[in-house]
Amino acid sequence: MDNSINILNGTLVLPEGCRRGSIGINGGKIEQIVERPCALSPAKKNIDATGRLIFPGVIDSHVHIRGGIFSYREDFTSGTMAAVAAGITTLFEMPGCAKPASTLENFLSRVDEVTRDACIDVALYGGAGADNLDEIPRLAAAGAIGFKTFLMPPVVGREKEFYGLCSASSGDLEKVMACIAETGLTLTIHCEEGSIIADKTKQIRAKDGNRVRDFCASRPEEAEARAVARAICAAKATGCRTIVAHVSSAESMKMICQAQEKGLDIHAETCVNYLTFDSDSMDEYGGFARMKPPFRIRNCVDQLVQGYSEGKIELTGSDHAPFTREEKCKSGNSIWQAPDGLPGLELTLLLLLRLVEQHKLTYEMIAQNTAENTAQLFGLDKIKGRIARGRDADLVIVKKLRTPEYINHQNLRCKCRESAIIYDDLTVSHQVVSTIARGRIAYSNEQVLLQAGQGRFLSSK
Ligand SMILES: [Zn+2]
Repeated sequence: MDNSINILNGTLVLPEGCRRGSIGINGGKIEQIVERPCALSPAKKNIDATGRLIFPGVIDSHVHIRGGIFSYREDFTSGTMAAVAAGITTLFEMPGCAKPASTLENFLSRVDEVTRDACIDVALYGGAGADNLDEIPRLAAAGAIGFKTFLMPPVVGREKEFYGLCSASSGDLEKVMACIAETGLTLTIHCEEGSIIADKTKQIRAKDGNRVRDFCASRPEEAEARAVARAICAAKATGCRTIVAHVSSAESMKMICQAQEKGLDIHAETCVNYLTFDSDSMDEYGGFARMKPPFRIRNCVDQLVQGYSEGKIELTGSDHAPFTREEKCKSGNSIWQAPDGLPGLELTLLLLLRLVEQHKLTYEMIAQNTAENTAQLFGLDKIKGRIARGRDADLVIVKKLRTPEYINHQNLRCKCRESAIIYDDLTVSHQVVSTIARGRIAYSNEQVLLQAGQGRFLSSK
């Protein structure tokens, strides 16, 4: 049988090594992988990938598209279109939104939104907290890819938004994790200890600190590490597969690694922002450089990058959390009032490739940490995560630029690109040429060729 697409003469990036190869695609799947293109069945369309790298499509394990009433910031159409132009072929949406995905009803209405609006495959986390334990098995049965919780009480005045998302005490956390362990799914935890942050913030604000570095100092590494220690204890007590979200602290990374060496099913995710930016050089960006956990000192960033390159961090999420420029600036230049979150969805692959250019990372580790591990940890490894026969044809073709180019936030595609100004100081050395998503040419010639409704809700079932 003929293939629908053949990709010819590329460099296939596999976790175990790069090699020359050609790929035949049929029925949305990778049908053939051969060394010489003449061994491929004929195809209706041929893509010449000579001199190009072919990565497995990025699986972004941490995204906040939100949609619904927040669609002015991002909806599943704009978000997935931006994603696919940046080499992401699957994304996992976090449960927090106006109607959090922590009840079956809210979860199912998000599934409808994804099915209607997404152009690539989207999986949904369910919210888990001390107040929605009954919903956890229902959400699992409805196909949640995993669960998410915060180690803090609901934000005062926003209790509805935080319903089913908070496990404030260690006792609460153990209850939540015991419940999730029964489902066989994962729990992703936002680890920051609120009491340490409250104390530090008070001290720093009393001295009129109002710079990015002051905000970063108000949420010290210790606040993350202490919460990670709690997560490790609860993982040990319950056997629940645990992922520490957006690890920004080298200390946390080491603790997770040690726990894993002792046999615990616990894993670290990070965001490329923490592998790139440091807390000391961002003052001019004010609230545009605010996310939580915050940026760390350069020495910590270097340790994280090294750990990432050694496999101590296994997952990569963009933590895309868009706010408009007006929202980021609403309170003048007070760093303390700006909302937390950066619209970095489109930068993951390019900024990782930047680290390769700096000799701090290999192409192979990118394939491992953005696709293979994610598929494996979330039970998707039969269909996604690797360039292998029988898996979904989710592929990114990347070209190395002759000379590095500056990022320009205005060229991004997400709705809140105007608040992505912190990336403009960086140069990148690679470019996504085209993306294939489930066998369709999804992005090519700087055009997104997919439409709303072509993505699927990716169920864990
Ligand atoms: Zn997040």
